[in-house]
Amino acid sequence: MHMTGNTILITGGASGIGLGLAQAFHERGNTVLIAGRRQRTLDEAVAAHPGLHPYVLDVTDPASIAALAARVTAEHPVLNVLINNAGIMQAEDILTATDTAVAEHTVTTNLLGPIRLTHALLPHLLAQPRPVIVNVSSGLASVPLAATPTYSATKAAIHSYTESLRHQLRDTPAQVLELTPPAVGTDLMPGHRDSPHSMPLDAYIAEVMQIMETQPEAPEICVQNVRFLRDAVATGTYDRVFQGIN
Ligand code: NDP
Repeated sequence: MHMTGNTILITGGASGIGLGLAQAFHERGNTVLIAGRRQRTLDEAVAAHPGLHPYVLDVTDPASIAALAARVTAEHPVLNVLINNAGIMQAEDILTATDTAVAEHTVTTNLLGPIRLTHALLPHLLAQPRPVIVNVSSGLASVPLAATPTYSATKAAIHSYTESLRHQLRDTPAQVLELTPPAVGTDLMPGHRDSPHSMPLDAYIAEVMQIMETQPEAPEICVQNVRFLRDAVATGTYDRVFQGIN
């Protein structure tokens, strides 16, 4: 992926990893559109980082996806990069849950959201000279926690979906990338930002940018502390972040 001169749409771009990426790409001379559910969070992100373009989007709502796709393609005819970053991580106790609401919401957000948005924007992206699709999976796709079974399942599915998409688009100019974060200090889960297992957000974004700049053909951007994550999960120390479940 070229690191400058793109027009990039980042879902979940008003906080955490999405905002970190938005800021880093904006600083490198890209036009960056950030999309998220909460207007107030979008407003705060733009106030802190002038130059970002805010869009309201709920990735669980097909009508919201269709409206966003229509609006961004009309307003940014040269949009060429989609970063499917929006996601949720909620603890589930399979033994005591009275329904599957958390699991279903997790699947709709983390799996159907990226699939629907990719489908909505693909014709527009493929009309560009340098189309790129980046899907955000997780180290927990291959190192599942006891506390978050559906979360890990959706991230493993996003990994598979991304690989298939790459194969299907191999005869097009599209580049399909996977971002596989380890534990990064954000507000994804209560206690996550300050957990001793979380890598500081700034350090994570700096490593991602360095990998993308030095290995522009790399299909997966995997910061190498997934081994640390695996050890933390194996010993149970990471799961104790989710009090009451483990
Ligand atoms: P944050 O909670 O900071 O960011 C998640 C973002 O997703 C928020 O901006 C949120 O926007 C957005 N979002 C959630 N639901 C929806 C929705 N229905 N429609 C639109 N936007 C939505 O957490 P992170 O930055 O950590 O997470 C970003 C991605 O990175 C996620 O996919 C996560 O699974 C992945 N990841 C994170 C890791 C970590 O340790 N932090 C590790 C591995 C993967 P709003 O608040 O406005 O709804």
